[in-house]
Amino acid sequence: MNREIWPNRPPTPIEDARAAELRRILNHYGHAYYALDKPEVLDAEYDRLFRELQELEQSFPDLRMPDSPTQRIGGALLEGFKPVRHRVPMLSIKTVTDTQASGAISFDQEVKKKLWNTSHQPAEEAVGESEEIEYVAELKFDGLAMSLRYEDGVLVQAATRGDGEIGEDVTENARKISEIPLRLMADYPEVLEVRGEVYIRHDSLEAINAKQRALGLPELVNPRNTAAGTIRQLDSSIVGQRRLSFFAYSVAEVPTLSDGRAMFDTHWDALTALRRWGFVVCSHAKRLTGASQLVMFHEEVDRIRHTFPYDIDGVVYKVNKFEFQRRLRFRAREPNWAVAHKFAPEEQPALVMDIDIQVGRTGKLTPVARLRPVKVGGVTVSNVTAHNDDEALCKDIRVGDTVIVRRAGDVIPEIVRVDIEKRPVDVGAPFETYVLLSGRCPICDSAVVREEGEVDYRCTGGLFCGAQRKEAILHYAQRRALDIEKVGEKLVEQLIDRGLVKVASDLYRLGLRSRADSRGLTIEQLSAELTDDEMREMAIQSLTALDRMGDLSAQNVLDAIERSKDTTLPRFLFGLGIRHVGEATAKELARHFGTLERIIGASVKDLLEVSDIGPTVAQSIYTFFAQAHNRDVIKELRKCGVSWPKSEPAPVVSKPLTGKTLVITGTLPSLSRDEARDLIEAAGGKVAGSVSKKTSFVVAGTEAGSKLDRALELGVAVLDETGLRGLLDGSA
Ligand code: NAD
Repeated sequence: MNREIWPNRPPTPIEDARAAELRRILNHYGHAYYALDKPEVLDAEYDRLFRELQELEQSFPDLRMPDSPTQRIGGALLEGFKPVRHRVPMLSIKTVTDTQASGAISFDQEVKKKLWNTSHQPAEEAVGESEEIEYVAELKFDGLAMSLRYEDGVLVQAATRGDGEIGEDVTENARKISEIPLRLMADYPEVLEVRGEVYIRHDSLEAINAKQRALGLPELVNPRNTAAGTIRQLDSSIVGQRRLSFFAYSVAEVPTLSDGRAMFDTHWDALTALRRWGFVVCSHAKRLTGASQLVMFHEEVDRIRHTFPYDIDGVVYKVNKFEFQRRLRFRAREPNWAVAHKFAPEEQPALVMDIDIQVGRTGKLTPVARLRPVKVGGVTVSNVTAHNDDEALCKDIRVGDTVIVRRAGDVIPEIVRVDIEKRPVDVGAPFETYVLLSGRCPICDSAVVREEGEVDYRCTGGLFCGAQRKEAILHYAQRRALDIEKVGEKLVEQLIDRGLVKVASDLYRLGLRSRADSRGLTIEQLSAELTDDEMREMAIQSLTALDRMGDLSAQNVLDAIERSKDTTLPRFLFGLGIRHVGEATAKELARHFGTLERIIGASVKDLLEVSDIGPTVAQSIYTFFAQAHNRDVIKELRKCGVSWPKSEPAPVVSKPLTGKTLVITGTLPSLSRDEARDLIEAAGGKVAGSVSKKTSFVVAGTEAGSKLDRALELGVAVLDETGLRGLLDGSA
């Protein structure tokens, strides 16, 4: 039954049932989102269903029920907070669903139409057809609304929006937000109610997540829900620990002057006054005229929003003149004088056409989904690396799947999840199968392993694998390994990008590789033809061809490389970048076996005899040396002259910290981190990067971070520098 043909027909039973179903689903999602701060679906999906219900109710007003989410705001209040009745209701904002320019144009037309219909008002306030409306365009912050009441300039109450009529009293928590003034500045009115948004910046969210990671807790992924969940904590000390921010964006009621006149007539002047009173008003707010300027604002913000240090989910247009706002009035839950104009959803479904395997800088194998191109957040995405917190889910991406792609915060698109319901029966094999079938790294053909208890597959060709080259060379050259001064990130990047260095041994023969390649010779054949001076000259020529590298700098780099040849076995072992072999293990290996040859020839069983080496580390060392190309790289390095003093396995002597693992956190009064580490290792101890139950002591200095929290939580003994010195000299 087409409504165009029969305009006033009643809803069909199917439409009736659909409205009831939509009310049920939306109320369920709304509860999860507003009351529990744990959304179950994407906002775009919620908005789509909400719109569908709104349209049904518009066509058939009989379907508009009191329990419809279109008739009310927000959700239930949390127990434990005192309810606050808002003196002026806190409304929602209508969302124009059209994310294109026409969204702004239709809002402007709507406003004009409504104002013209009321143009019986006094002539100077009427809007002529030719007159353009003035708006204030703002960002739509993705946080939660807050109402702040000031009496005699002092903050007396902070409340959440709640259902718009009654919110939760969160005054204590709001006091912890440094951007909320506790006392107003300048010419404030006797009573003032300010409305604004509590939100969390990306860096603050990351700080929370760093702590979560250290505590082995799940990370918080959604800034809006983190902000909402934080402000609704009964324990206000948690709010103090998590840095929340606040933007003021309106006054609930326009304050009056002593003569009874309104303090200001426009929203723009209200924003200006808010700044004067000490609030942070977002600097992106703009006063604009007519639809075309709104369109430009929307486009501009969409273009630059990825650079903002916080999330927004659209822009808001507000009619500037309060007189016009009054005449436009509001409807159900939304004023008619404002609208939220969202951007094209940043999460989009996309079909997986193929799956490739990518090898990361550290050897981790990740699936790269080749997608049917899809526009997400203004860019076309066709490849997405499946980095995700939920690795297991990501690894289950299959050819033929529909995945949800998101472009959030930064510009790198990511896969949020697989839409399992859309999975076809003939879906391809999981990523795991691709890896297991070949069992080899797609870049260097080295063996691929997955260690027990780990989710990631890794390539074992650290020194040899093209994908890991930069990381491997940097690791090799670092101060605590071969200590090649001047060979830092920028230089290594250039050396590799220009093909001058492929493996670590190329550092000792700079300039030879490309010349040998161009003459069809091996490096050995070419070097046999050249004198030492000629080789050095070639190296200098290669280096001076790089950015910002003069003759003197090139000489210095070469000298540093030359000096690194004279090293120690532990440094060399550490420099090889064998997974799980840190400095302490390298020292332990050298001490136990005495020579590199013995380490290379050691079985897993032999390796397990080394103190502090468990099965995972033993297996990792064994697999590394079992790769022929890793042994070749070592041979090459030796040929280039890398050497260390000969030594025999040292007899096992017990030292004060033998068998102990320590973690250092914060700044110690007199020892640098490296000095403390050297002292601990010299005393037979090991220094680890993270605190676990196996940690013997945590040495904490000033500004100790999450490691200290973790130690206290696990009951690990905590020492200061004096305590450490006591342990070292055996007096403690
Ligand atoms: P809203 O959040 O879309 O808009 C109103 C709110 O916008 C205000 O209360 C205020 O907090 C905020 N705002 C931000 N910047 C502002 C500014 N410059 N000026 C004025 N207000 C500003 O409306 P709503 O009714 O709270 O919620 C609807 C939104 O919540 C939709 O975007 C919807 O997608 C989402 N939602 C999602 C789910 C889900 O399950 N994913 C469920 C319910 C709601």
